[in-house]
Amino acid sequence: MSDVKVVVIGAGPAGLAVGLALARRGRRVTLVERDPDQPLDDPAGAFERWARPGVAHHRLPHSLLGRTRRALREHAPDVLEAMLRAGAWENDVRGRLVRDAAGPDDEDLVAVHCRRPFFECMLRRAVRDEPLVRIVSNTTVAGLTLQKRGTAAPRVAGVRLREDDVLDADVVIDAGGRQSAIRKALERDGVPMPAAQVEPCGVIYYTRYYRLRDGVEYPAWAGVLGPGGTSECARYTVFFGDNRTFAIVLGVSTSVHAFRALAREEVFTEAVSRFKALAPFIHHDLAEPITPIVAFGALRNVFHPPLLDGEPPVLGLHFLGDAYCHTNPLFAWGLCLAIDYGFRLGRIVDEHPTDVDAQARAFAAATSVEAEQCFRALAEEDRDRTLTWDGAPPSGPWLGRTFAGFVRDCAQPAVMLDTSVARAVLRRAHLLDPPDELMKRESILRRVIALQSELPKPSPGAVPSADELLEIAARHPRAAR
Ligand SMILES: Cc1cc2nc3c(=O)[nH]c(=O)nc-3n(C[C@H](O)[C@H](O)[C@H](O)COP(=O)(O)OP(=O)(O)OC[C@H]3O[C@@H](n4cnc5c(N)ncnc54)[C@H](O)[C@@H]3O)c2cc1C
Repeated sequence: MSDVKVVVIGAGPAGLAVGLALARRGRRVTLVERDPDQPLDDPAGAFERWARPGVAHHRLPHSLLGRTRRALREHAPDVLEAMLRAGAWENDVRGRLVRDAAGPDDEDLVAVHCRRPFFECMLRRAVRDEPLVRIVSNTTVAGLTLQKRGTAAPRVAGVRLREDDVLDADVVIDAGGRQSAIRKALERDGVPMPAAQVEPCGVIYYTRYYRLRDGVEYPAWAGVLGPGGTSECARYTVFFGDNRTFAIVLGVSTSVHAFRALAREEVFTEAVSRFKALAPFIHHDLAEPITPIVAFGALRNVFHPPLLDGEPPVLGLHFLGDAYCHTNPLFAWGLCLAIDYGFRLGRIVDEHPTDVDAQARAFAAATSVEAEQCFRALAEEDRDRTLTWDGAPPSGPWLGRTFAGFVRDCAQPAVMLDTSVARAVLRRAHLLDPPDELMKRESILRRVIALQSELPKPSPGAVPSADELLEIAARHPRAAR
């Protein structure tokens, strides 16, 4: 077997997935991670114990959708099994399909619930146990070393570390996350890179983790997509966690300044209690908060095309995870792509160890159409929802809406009424089908349209209006300093 030196920048989910894939195929791989080494003995305690300054969203709610679970089942079933033994749990959406009509093709309609540090700890443990992997912690990659080749694309030769060390590499994988500085460093060095597609999410979210008190269980909840939904001014949801934890998330428009009061405990708590689907979760007898309220904003949908005019811009360099594509986190597609593409890239590098051009083309062919669809679908959803929140009437060719508005307002509510609609909509939500697939399913679309007259009317008082949320914010003014 030809020996190929692979260096991965970042030991987050994407870096860990590709590292695991390569090592299990007999390839040596070095992961360079700027954060310090973390204790791996206690996955449930990682939420409190892990220091991850390199990942701002480390303690924020994450769900592992069907696509992430499928990738783990296929490529690292031992990791999934260990997670379930340690307190993660599977939310079998199939059991909630209309009249329990789940079929054998629905086996991936299952989410896995755990907190992100728990998941990362379990994945890191599996990677640590691979003898062919070396994780170099506390070390930042400052840039790449390149072999210039006249007017042709340069070829990667290694990575430069902060300490002015160079680590030689035949293949470098940038899994440095949404803020990765590698592309900018290349552009500063005059290397032409493909232009990124970027759109703001227009949403800021407020969230808090809770733990169930002893002797009680999660309250019953309705629907197949989990407790939550989109109201005239908020996206609201429960993210379940491992070991009896869960988080409440309220996402609101970045343009309504008064909603920033949701960062205050009394405002957040009262606002959550006005959502009928969420209120039982935060009842004092059921759960206690285990974190303060955290706000997370400046969210963007970003897609970096992997090829420039059909050619790899730097031979031997691949972008993975959030460094490749990231989308509105409220839809939980980030880990799906980071983990699934991580395993795929491992296979591709293993199949073409010395042909870096073939690696780039195979990875782009396997992923770029879908990744761009994810970007476009959620950018459209964000644009559409922001307009709706701003009071603009819906418009577009899909029952008077954009396709994103049609999915949100017409198809998702119909999930409760029809098995085939449920299956198609849920497969999209869990990214088991590419986002544009639903648009091609004419019989499903016709069924959704036919079901509109049967949709249950929203029950009065189920969610607070924008005025009610503003009134709550005004009633709890910030304490004078
Ligand atoms: C608020 C929020 C909530 C989310 N919720 C979900 C969810 O529910 N479900 C879901 O699927 N996805 C979710 N996502 C998306 C998910 O978190 C990302 O897709 C995932 O983190 C991508 O993993 P990654 O490994 O690419 O990047 P990261 O997790 O950001 O990891 C990058 C790693 O690289 C290291 N690094 C960076 N630069 C360097 C360098 N120069 N040298 C060395 N190391 C470096 C960092 O320290 C870090 O460890 C959410 C995202 C956010 C922001």
